[in-house]
Amino acid sequence: METQPLKIGVLGFGGLGQASARILEAKQEMRLVAVADQHGYAIAPEGLNIDQAIATYYEKGSIGYLENNGTLSNQSIEELIQKADVDGYFLALPNLPNTFMADITRLFIKSGWQGVLVDALKRTSAMEQMLTLKGDLKQAGITYMTGCGATPGLLTAATVIASQSFQEIHSVKITFGVGIANWEAYRATIREDIGHLPGYTVDQAKAMSDEEVEALLDKTNGILTLENMEHADDLMLELAGICERDQVTVGGVVDTRNPQKPLSTNVQITGRTFEGKISTHTFTLGDETSMAANVCGTAFGYLKAGINLHRQGNYGLFTAAEIMPQFVR
Ligand code: NAD
Repeated sequence: METQPLKIGVLGFGGLGQASARILEAKQEMRLVAVADQHGYAIAPEGLNIDQAIATYYEKGSIGYLENNGTLSNQSIEELIQKADVDGYFLALPNLPNTFMADITRLFIKSGWQGVLVDALKRTSAMEQMLTLKGDLKQAGITYMTGCGATPGLLTAATVIASQSFQEIHSVKITFGVGIANWEAYRATIREDIGHLPGYTVDQAKAMSDEEVEALLDKTNGILTLENMEHADDLMLELAGICERDQVTVGGVVDTRNPQKPLSTNVQITGRTFEGKISTHTFTLGDETSMAANVCGTAFGYLKAGINLHRQGNYGLFTAAEIMPQFVR
């Protein structure tokens, strides 16, 4: 008997949302049936035509203009939740302000919808808000997978695996390199990164006009260098009992004018074995793998794992450090 593909929705149709659509296009186990952006949404139970969807978003500014399947709306997410038949959503939304993802989650809880949600949330303080919703999610019959991008996400999960060799973890050092051809393809990601620069806050970054972002990037030749970032890898590893949060450091370099990575993304896990040896495991991502491949691929791996948890009646909130992602065929 042939099993039906899982019905997937993507909220946010910017850089990561569109990359998600491309990834799902090649999958047999998942089908993209619903998408929302800020001004509209589209539903296609037989699967969205991805070329048409992306072309419409570029030409007209919203997926809501999609012929036959689109609807314009300023409450796109609320309406989509009510109208679409979806097993799980990837929230490829900007977390601007820093409370946005928690607000969207409350919307889902209030709506009575049941299923799986996955995010690629970055900030520790944003994930702390999600943790407070754990009980409500459980009661609502929602399985929420948080921190399931690249970092946090893929690199945090790799840290959990690497830590098995050690009796005690001394440090976890995450260093990422991101190369994108132009910042406008990933506006939210870049604004949120600016929010990590010394002298900037999330609210300031959100309030910056595109011209102000351009001017800042002109000054740095398109490069953002980030150190000691507030990244939820620390909270997730602490919750998983691997180490204390202050033993985790995250930093990186983002080149907004070159698709080549300025450095290889890696995580170094240093610890002591039961024999008393101090050693470091390093997990390095291939330079040819893009941010989109590493974030969206991971998100769908966790979405599949989340759907299996949901089917077994496991609701609530889980982080990428406590569940193994599954491979989506
Ligand atoms: P983007 O700016 O390219 O796109 C955002 C999309 O969200 C747009 O389509 C916009 O219309 C839509 N949107 C905004 N407000 C909305 C609303 N109220 N209702 C419906 N849709 C709305 O964003 P991006 O660069 O793809 O980033 C998405 C998120 O992914 C960011 O929060 C970023 O921090 C996160 N991210 C995580 C990782 C990781 O490794 N964990 C890596 C990169 C990006």
